[in-house]
Amino acid sequence: MKDLHVAIVGAGIGGLAAALALQRAGLRVSVHEQAPQLGEVGAGLSLSPTAAHSLRYLGIGAALDVAAYLPEDQAVRHYQDGRALQWTNRGRALLEKYGERYYLIHRADLHDALAAAVRANDAAAIRLGRRLVTLSQTGDGVRLGFADGGTATADVVVGADGSRSQTRHLLFGDSAPKYTGYIAWRGLVPMDRVPQSVLDPPSGIYVGPGHLVNRYPVRGGRLLNFVAFAEREAWTEEGWSIPSTVDELLREFEDWHPDVRTFLAAVPPENLFKWGLFDREPLTVWHRGRVTLLGDAAHPVLPFLGHGAVLAIEDSVLLARAFGSAGSIDEALARYGAARIPRAAFVVRESRLAVKVFHSHEPEKYPQKTGGRAADERLGLFDYDPTRVAV
Ligand SMILES: Cc1cc2nc3c(=O)[nH]c(=O)nc-3n(C[C@H](O)[C@H](O)[C@H](O)COP(=O)(O)OP(=O)(O)OC[C@H]3O[C@@H](n4cnc5c(N)ncnc54)[C@H](O)[C@@H]3O)c2cc1C
Repeated sequence: MKDLHVAIVGAGIGGLAAALALQRAGLRVSVHEQAPQLGEVGAGLSLSPTAAHSLRYLGIGAALDVAAYLPEDQAVRHYQDGRALQWTNRGRALLEKYGERYYLIHRADLHDALAAAVRANDAAAIRLGRRLVTLSQTGDGVRLGFADGGTATADVVVGADGSRSQTRHLLFGDSAPKYTGYIAWRGLVPMDRVPQSVLDPPSGIYVGPGHLVNRYPVRGGRLLNFVAFAEREAWTEEGWSIPSTVDELLREFEDWHPDVRTFLAAVPPENLFKWGLFDREPLTVWHRGRVTLLGDAAHPVLPFLGHGAVLAIEDSVLLARAFGSAGSIDEALARYGAARIPRAAFVVRESRLAVKVFHSHEPEKYPQKTGGRAADERLGLFDYDPTRVAV
């Protein structure tokens, strides 16, 4: 199994984490990315203890410690009067219980650390400008065809090409994405534009009727990341980088607490984007022959529990561990699917349900609905260590 060559389609966080995990398991890896340059969008990511365990297993724990912001507390507040409805610890208490804590990181910082580690193992591993269009499997390999006419061969292919995955389309056909009725804005605000008085504590969520605002520091505390969700009947525009205006955002959150409006108003317009949230039914099988899926390609998930990248990183560890313990490609891909499909399906389902808790028409009932615990911890999402679970 160590002689295998694995081609990964997509160099997002999932594709790069998988490349690193497979390299560390001793396999040869090529990553084919459609973009002409490697990069990530300007936004934050919250990483749970399970992702932190995984990133340390992949050898990039030091990068996490340097680049991330380490929140101690997280408050959930009422959208209008700002009172704290719930206060939970995301640092010390998690560390004691799960051996890891929460980390808040700029996506580009994590992406850069993963890419650097993959390239340190093999300088030529990441190939750019390669948009996958076709796949054909024979008994002894897979042939990949790219939009520019180029081709490549591999023993195994991992489709990590995101929620609109071409690999998934080629394996399982199309399932139309369904608009969820929610749109969102994301923004990054330089911290020197944000008064300290609105950051108590720096990591916080505001809940209100049909709306939710989540904000937290990234880049060691130099930027404030926010995501603001709102219900909207219809939406047709694609992509998650549609420019918006501060006026439009403030109109949507007109009757919200001045603290929220203060940091929303401080966003530089060039750092403000909006998008519509689409959903797909989860797959019950991830592989066909020598081709499997990973990350959003396998299980696109709504962002209400902040778990899409966490799942992709967990997938990577389990995929590599499956290759380490199986005797054949088929066995490795079957073990990987068996280990991951139930967990991903659970998080996908709970992320859909979580919106009902957050977008509350009775925000004061929030602590009753969550039993006074953070939504992800209450669901037992941290009672899982990808580096140890059976595969
Ligand atoms: C608002 C918002 C907030 C979020 N917050 C969090 C959070 O706090 N924590 C968290 O864990 N998750 C969060 N997520 C989810 C997370 O961002 C995604 O789940 C994660 O980035 C998925 O990574 P991926 O590598 O699977 O896919 P992607 O990041 O989509 O990467 C796919 C890659 O494949 C490439 N590609 C696509 N098609 C092709 C092709 N045909 N050929 C070659 N290359 C191709 C793309 O260019 C891209 O580089 C959030 C998501 C949103 C929308």
